Amino acid sequence: MKETVEFLTKMPKFELHVHIEGAVKPNIYFKIAQKNNIDVGLKNIEEWQKFFQFKNFAHFIDVYIKAVSVLKKPEDYTELIEGFFAYQASQNILYSEAFLSASFLVESFSNSEILDAIEKGLKQGREKYKIEVALIPDIARNIPQSKEAVLELVREGKERGLFIGIGLGGLENGHPARLFEDIYKKASEYGLRKVAHAGEAVGAESIAEALDYLQAERIGHGIRCLDDSKLVERLKTTKTPLEVCPSSNYRLKLVEDNQVHPLRKMHDLGILCTVNSDDPVMFSTSLTDEYLLLFNQGFSLEELWQLNLNAIEASFLSTKQKGNLVMEFEKWKKNFLLNYKKES
Ligand SMILES: [Zn+2]
Repeated sequence: MKETVEFLTKMPKFELHVHIEGAVKPNIYFKIAQKNNIDVGLKNIEEWQKFFQFKNFAHFIDVYIKAVSVLKKPEDYTELIEGFFAYQASQNILYSEAFLSASFLVESFSNSEILDAIEKGLKQGREKYKIEVALIPDIARNIPQSKEAVLELVREGKERGLFIGIGLGGLENGHPARLFEDIYKKASEYGLRKVAHAGEAVGAESIAEALDYLQAERIGHGIRCLDDSKLVERLKTTKTPLEVCPSSNYRLKLVEDNQVHPLRKMHDLGILCTVNSDDPVMFSTSLTDEYLLLFNQGFSLEELWQLNLNAIEASFLSTKQKGNLVMEFEKWKKNFLLNYKKES
């Protein structure tokens, strides 16, 4: 058990489904709030940190709204992005493809000022933490009126080498993927990679829509695919990766606490699944904790290692980069196991 914990903690990782706003330590938000003279209604950093502890869905929304409400200036995003690098580096996450909630950005800032701030954050993060983060801004389904503006921001950001793709998040219920078909079509023409949250709160039909209307290359969550065996076959044939976020599903009650996470079945069926933390700081989890949770549910170390390698395969890196990374990861594993045996 001790070996497993150490292995999963130290293991070099990839993460493909994580929201920047939900993966930054509370103290960063606190610092930004103070700088902007915003009263968050809590006396000190300790209270603020306690406030971030996950309690229930309503409280999570409360934390989220209060946290992002301190982000007033473009330069706040420089700090936010640097804070994200710090968090990922602390988990040995060498590479992330991370979401940035763009529907809010386009309401508040001009494209050039926010892109300058993001560029600075990426530069500082890379220099300081020596890891890589690729950004995928996403449209909130429930703010459909922002879709054109987000696409334009993403297009400009891609031209500047800041973004790799476009995503779709927000409330799935009542906001079907087909409403964003036009945007994703143009995104394709701009050479952007395409992902979408689907099959989280709504069933398998929502995943099929994201594939049919958006040509999504990867599905966020997707746990409801199990409702439809034909869709499962389709995901297997097309090798469409799913970005599974176990704790997020438990916290939001999409999976009951006493239930084994559907990832078990999805993996056994041969669907290409990856493990992710979604909004780790606000869900009181971490990517390491996600792997530990799965270990405690019966996944073997070999299976968890495979899930980790799946994230390399499912990433938007080049085939050559992926090949090199798999070799590096395997080398790390061999060394860890060798040294561990020697020491014990
Ligand atoms: Zn998400």
